[in-house]
Amino acid sequence: MNMNFCRGITVFLLCAALLLSLSGCAGAEPKEYYFFAMDTVVTLRLIPKPGADQARMDEIAARCEGILIEAEREMSAKDDDTPVSRFNAGEDAALVLTPLIGEVVAVSLDVSRKTGGAFDCTLGALVELWNVSGGGPVPAQEDIREALSHTGEGCFSFSADEVKKTDPDARLDFGGVGKGAAAALLVDYLNSPEAGETLAGAVVSLGGNVALAGSKPDGSPYMVGVRDPDDPGGLIGTLALESGFVAVSGDYERYFEENGVRYHHILGGKTGVPAKSGLRSAAAVASDGALADALSTALFVLGEDGALALYESGLYDFEAVLVTDDGRVTATPGLGGVFRLTNGNYVLSETSSGS
Ligand code: AMP
Ligand code: MG
Repeated sequence: MNMNFCRGITVFLLCAALLLSLSGCAGAEPKEYYFFAMDTVVTLRLIPKPGADQARMDEIAARCEGILIEAEREMSAKDDDTPVSRFNAGEDAALVLTPLIGEVVAVSLDVSRKTGGAFDCTLGALVELWNVSGGGPVPAQEDIREALSHTGEGCFSFSADEVKKTDPDARLDFGGVGKGAAAALLVDYLNSPEAGETLAGAVVSLGGNVALAGSKPDGSPYMVGVRDPDDPGGLIGTLALESGFVAVSGDYERYFEENGVRYHHILGGKTGVPAKSGLRSAAAVASDGALADALSTALFVLGEDGALALYESGLYDFEAVLVTDDGRVTATPGLGGVFRLTNGNYVLSETSSGS
């Protein structure tokens, strides 16, 4: 059976679990659209203004799909013949910083520097070696060491308008930031006067990223579910949010199993193996899509203490929900009255701000 299709179904279930649980709104009915883009199933929920034209909603959804397909064509390191894959393969000597690539590079470098490399877009050689999306297998220790020697900012030179390699075997990977950046492009479009004529609001769910546009006609906040890492169809709790982005990184999103051991897709740039930080998942809430996405990956690698230290440092304006592998949930102070734990299998940490 087609692997991409299988992966699509898996990710679809994950998306459904990640979730947007929106209560219905008075007046015109919301409409949901599903499509495959950026290696994941995308759920788009459009909430029309009263009297909105259905055909116009379909056009808006099609435009959203087009935006994501274009973003994928720019940023993917997996698809052949994208600027990033040509650069990685050495076919292009430089990666030109378009507005989108420029943004993901800038956010990636900044988060990498401020998290001691917990997030690191220069891990491409390692990501390729592990091939988690393709099902592994677990690489040999010496191959991991070799791949690690081609990672790090020093393997590249970054200028204002392009990236070049100083190590020909190094590779970039924007898998941990690109979906958030693309979700932000969608929100820009959905909030534009062009789409705003038809829509009151919209919710996008894109491979672990939820993005909120406009607002609900009844004025209540959007309810974004945070998935139970142990139950694809279940939630640990909900976030009541007016706007912004929620990105979740978890060990259940993409993985393969070998000899009964799960190898997930978030790699430690120092160890060269899937990160083991004591977290099952990390959700970052922020007003910037690319930042939320990069931070969720970084928080997962940092673990609970490191994630909370980053929060307390004030280097970034974000909130977080962390799920530990011993069943605790920690929500940062700004989520008081926003995060609600709904799953009795988990307990809120004493320092936590949820309810
Ligand atoms: P996310 O689901 O946003 O946490 O992103 C995970 C994806 O980012 C992986 O599938 C890889 O493509 C890439 N990746 C893996 N480990 C890291 C890391 N430590 N820093 C940045 N990107 C990573
Ligand atoms: Mg991420």
